[in-house]
Amino acid sequence: MGYLDGFKVTFGKLFGERVTTEYPHEKRPKPPRFHGRHVLNRYPDGMEKCIGCELCAGVCPARCIYVRGADNSPDDPVSPGERYGYVYEINYLRCIHCDLCVEACPTEAITETKVFEFSFPTRRDAIYTKDELLTDDDGRPRRQPWELWHEGDDEHTSGWMRATSPSGQPDYEGRVGWSGELGYGVRAPEQGQHADLDGGEDDSVIAGDDTADLDEHSGAPAAGDHH
Ligand code: SF4
Ligand code: SF4
Repeated sequence: MGYLDGFKVTFGKLFGERVTTEYPHEKRPKPPRFHGRHVLNRYPDGMEKCIGCELCAGVCPARCIYVRGADNSPDDPVSPGERYGYVYEINYLRCIHCDLCVEACPTEAITETKVFEFSFPTRRDAIYTKDELLTDDDGRPRRQPWELWHEGDDEHTSGWMRATSPSGQPDYEGRVGWSGELGYGVRAPEQGQHADLDGGEDDSVIAGDDTADLDEHSGAPAAGDHH
């Protein structure tokens, strides 16, 4: 008669709370630091953040980034400063989403979205070009037809920046040391160890007073304001 106990468990589950997620129609929220497909960010005035320095390509352990820099034209600059990235490619057949490129970038140009659902019919299609990686005029990632985007996947596109203080020096907790982004403004810092996580605010919101020390032109922190 022991098998009747087994049926009891089965029938009990029939009327219990459902825990199945109907993927892909329903997707669970991803962690703020999740590493997905990259984006190339722009400053609030539309200028590109990438300066073509190739640090991301140099640090990439999979050797999947190809960058070429060029001098900005004084009459029609693409980025603030002397140089910009005129070729930028990432080969997603090789990328392991380690985010070392993101850590190495001096201008916060390259960051990652939350999208990981994308596939390609050919090897050539797996190489994302600058046009595909660069954010749109509204600052949002350009959604490619072969990518499966869901609500919120384009919100935390630079969550890594808010990982600088919560487990480190308490004096820097909550202090912004990064530039603004087209479409998002200045990202608020990640909540610290003492934050009220149950009733706390969403850390994706644009910071209010933290914009005070920003460079007027680019939205970047003013000189000497980096921590
Ligand atoms: S996430 Fe890692 S593997 Fe992918 S491009 Fe960046 S450095 Fe290379
Ligand atoms: S994304 Fe960043 S690290 Fe890579 S070339 Fe551009 S500025 Fe340099």
